[in-house]
Amino acid sequence: MSPLAKVRQRQELHRELCRDCNGDKPVLLIGIDDTDSKYGMCTTYIAALLVRALSKYGEVSLPVLMRLNPTIPYKTRGNGAVALFVATEKEGEVKELVLQTVAENAELKAEGTEPGIVFVRRHELKSDRERRLAYFSAAAVRHVLSIEDAKKTIAKLPLEHSAFKRGRGLIGALAAVGFPFLHHCSDERLLDKTYELIAYRHEERWGTPRDIDAASVFLADRLTYPLTWDTVDHSLRRVICAPHSPCPVLFGIRGDDVAAIHRAYEIIRSEPVKMTQLFITNQGTDAHLIDARICDVKDYHSYILKGIVSREPVVIRGGHVIFSISDPDGTASIDCAAYEPTKGFRNIIRRLRVGDIVAAYGSVKNSTLNLEKIEIIKLKEHVIKKNPKCSICGRTMESGGKNKGYRCVTCKTHAPSPVLIMERRDLEEGLYEVPPSARRHISKPLIRFPPEVRAHPSR
Ligand code: ATP
Repeated sequence: MSPLAKVRQRQELHRELCRDCNGDKPVLLIGIDDTDSKYGMCTTYIAALLVRALSKYGEVSLPVLMRLNPTIPYKTRGNGAVALFVATEKEGEVKELVLQTVAENAELKAEGTEPGIVFVRRHELKSDRERRLAYFSAAAVRHVLSIEDAKKTIAKLPLEHSAFKRGRGLIGALAAVGFPFLHHCSDERLLDKTYELIAYRHEERWGTPRDIDAASVFLADRLTYPLTWDTVDHSLRRVICAPHSPCPVLFGIRGDDVAAIHRAYEIIRSEPVKMTQLFITNQGTDAHLIDARICDVKDYHSYILKGIVSREPVVIRGGHVIFSISDPDGTASIDCAAYEPTKGFRNIIRRLRVGDIVAAYGSVKNSTLNLEKIEIIKLKEHVIKKNPKCSICGRTMESGGKNKGYRCVTCKTHAPSPVLIMERRDLEEGLYEVPPSARRHISKPLIRFPPEVRAHPSR
């Protein structure tokens, strides 16, 4: 697909999401979050059910799957929240059905599952309120918010909402309805969009091993990559588009091109699929990353930090590789870690040397940056001293002692000083990434970067 066609496709979909401000029917935006637990369910499944159930009340948009701050400790898996928009005059019936569907399907008995639902009347939303929603949405991707923060914004707008238990899900629900208005934020990374087609399992199979033909998944990947990505991990020879949890998801195909995603889906052979749902998402966009200086770093945030390698990489127990970078003026430094699951990425990290200039991408917890990507901006040139070779026999000369130069024991030749040579660095400048199996949902695969970026994709 040409870049222009891609832009048109995005604009069209974006218009679809934000549409109908002046249309003949009012549009209701619905945000939902925190319905699942590690024992089951998935908020995207509830969205897929609602897309079908609500269509009797009006036209339903492509639902949003928005990934929020990936470091949040309350998350079940990928900190995802959903939103959908219905063009309808039957607002009362729609709200009732949404509440009923969440109440019937959410894992309400599980500790820590606290669903939240937010309703926004699109036609009542003028640009200052759109902006407020967008800022909340952006903050939920990058910062740590409280239920109070969500309630304050809900009260100011004001919005109708529903909360179960303490209603922590209100944070994600409010963030998800702000997704179509992120164009009010100037940050490019927040504007990027991708797609995922999720296939769901029949209920009687939930919790049993997934029956997916791995060879067909590799074929689907071969025929549609790079328009689809993160379906398989070639270095591990593993299918990674299927979860291992007891949730209703069978597998999900991610990508930039809706046609390619559907083509991949058609190729994959598996157990019977109950239903599929396409989502517009911020997966694979790096929307969570904040450009910052090392001295400003806080735990539970994700950054791009430029610095100079100040402590050489060491391998610690468990195979994790740790090194440090410092601000250019040396006032602050931070440990960066390439953990064992990042596999071959650690081979790149191990080759860094003190003095290399890098940009480290990743999330900070316990004052350590968990690397998702690294840009090697400038490799430091290291000069190595070597004993000279004898001009007669060609053998390496021996040192004659401190300040006494070098001599050849056989030919008795003499050289006053060592030979200085540049160390050959077994590393190229550019961007490197962890393999797909270690990638966060929200992290941008290098294959999505523009061609002018010097990138070394993991495959
Ligand atoms: P799944 O991906 O399977 O839907 P999950 O990983 O999204 O599960 P949730 O059950 O949604 O996990 O739990 C995440 C909780 O964290 C939600 O209650 C959500 O409102 C809240 N949350 C999301 N972003 C933030 C944030 N930036 N600050 C504080 N809380 C947040």
